[in-house]
Amino acid sequence: MKFIGTRGTEEKKSFSEVILNPAALNGGLFVPEKFPKIDEKYILRFVDEFGEKTYRHIARTVLRKFKVDLDDDLIEKALYLYLKNFDSDDVVPLVRLKNFSVAELWHGPTRAFKDMALQPFGVILSSLAQEKNENYLILAATSGDTGPATLKTFENKENIKVVCIYPHKGTSEVQKLQMVTTDAKNEKVLGILGDFDDAQTALKALLKDDEFKETLKENNIKLSAANSVNFGRIIFQTVYHFWSYIKLLENFDIELGDKIDVIIPSGNFGNALGAYYAKKMGLPIDKIVIASNKNNVLYELITYGRYDLRDKDLIKTISPAMDILKSSNVERVLFDKFGEARTIELMTSLENEGYFELNEEELKKLQEDFIADFATDGECEEIIKRYVNEEYYLMDTHTATAVKAYEYLKEKNKIGDKKTVIYSTAEWTKFAPSIYEALTGEDVNREIALEEEKNAISDKDAIAYIEGHLKEKAPDVITELFNKEITNENIINKDKIKEEIIKFISK
Ligand SMILES: *Cc1c(COP(=O)(O)O)cnc(C)c1O
Repeated sequence: MKFIGTRGTEEKKSFSEVILNPAALNGGLFVPEKFPKIDEKYILRFVDEFGEKTYRHIARTVLRKFKVDLDDDLIEKALYLYLKNFDSDDVVPLVRLKNFSVAELWHGPTRAFKDMALQPFGVILSSLAQEKNENYLILAATSGDTGPATLKTFENKENIKVVCIYPHKGTSEVQKLQMVTTDAKNEKVLGILGDFDDAQTALKALLKDDEFKETLKENNIKLSAANSVNFGRIIFQTVYHFWSYIKLLENFDIELGDKIDVIIPSGNFGNALGAYYAKKMGLPIDKIVIASNKNNVLYELITYGRYDLRDKDLIKTISPAMDILKSSNVERVLFDKFGEARTIELMTSLENEGYFELNEEELKKLQEDFIADFATDGECEEIIKRYVNEEYYLMDTHTATAVKAYEYLKEKNKIGDKKTVIYSTAEWTKFAPSIYEALTGEDVNREIALEEEKNAISDKDAIAYIEGHLKEKAPDVITELFNKEITNENIINKDKIKEEIIKFISK
């Protein structure tokens, strides 16, 4: 399987090449030239033939069908982590509620969906770097979940260095602790006085900086990326969509061939892109429902056909992993549906004018697969409380956007006649103060707290409250954070980022 670029292709690349060097020509992204078929025949085999039907069998099949240029041993080593580092035998448990099933993507070590791909990805990237005898630097700007998952997967890995930049005061306390308690020698964590956009802008400037590039060269270091522009992330994010379908079959919730709807809390569109690719490969998905928060650029795109960043400022919400305005993976969908020339046209317009608009026919094509909704913080809080009271199910703030989408679109008769899978992208423990407020209705001076960029109640106290009042238990990996030594906290001005990174990689 070869990969081409969304904005032109100089030379087709292999899977290992696009993992190591994820930037395609002219600022584009790599996409597979063709997609393998994993249709009903295969799905039935997962159920019948494998007996065990484990998550890893499906992942292995997806990788094989893509003909990735990795040794079988390396694939097994990477997939073994689903067994070793996830606390559920199912890897992704499917929980049946009254009207839909919830697929929990957060049973990995950092308790959010990023582990689903980053766990195997870390082993693969590091092994490829060792094979080639090359050194890589991973620069990660994070709004909260990518950072911990990236640090975790590359902890003490050979031939890899990681610098993780987060907005100081811009993440939850648990997310911050997951980063600043990292003591791996190959990892550096920088908290900047600024927001997530500042972190991202600083990284982009760095990639064009001559002194920085020179330092990389002198130290014999290449750059890679661990965010979802890297196709190595996306391939693992197709797997659980097959898994959910197979679990529904096993539970006799559906018959083979029945179509299902899936609802996905979305930001950078990497998770939803996995569903879109799975559908392309033959998985019977009808609608992929995109759930946003008040930063509803994706909702506008899918509903009205326009992507408009003019006069839009990022809004801080209680689902911070979805506080995104520039959603990278939209480009891969545009390419798939409308081709290279049109993608270049649309993306250039977005980059230069902050705006693009699809024509009517294009919008129709987009809506064949996607439908969207968005939720306010208040709606999410109401849902969190109601599902605890009525169905004894505690969900996090991101998952609540998807449940809101389900209820709203079902009422409008746009979905709901098929089985629906809602993807839960984080465990409640990562956003406990928001959950506390949802449950108690105690608006602990939210306005003031937001202004001062702090939570009205500490994460530790909120977790203790929830454990005390509900039948919930935070896992040790979360509670231990509060006693761990802080070894990697470096709070700096954003104009010091370059200096700090150069110091770190020149050692
Ligand atoms: C990253 C993340 C998302 C958004 O996923 P995308 O692939 O960027 O659309 C949603 N919820 C949580 C908890 C996340 O960490």
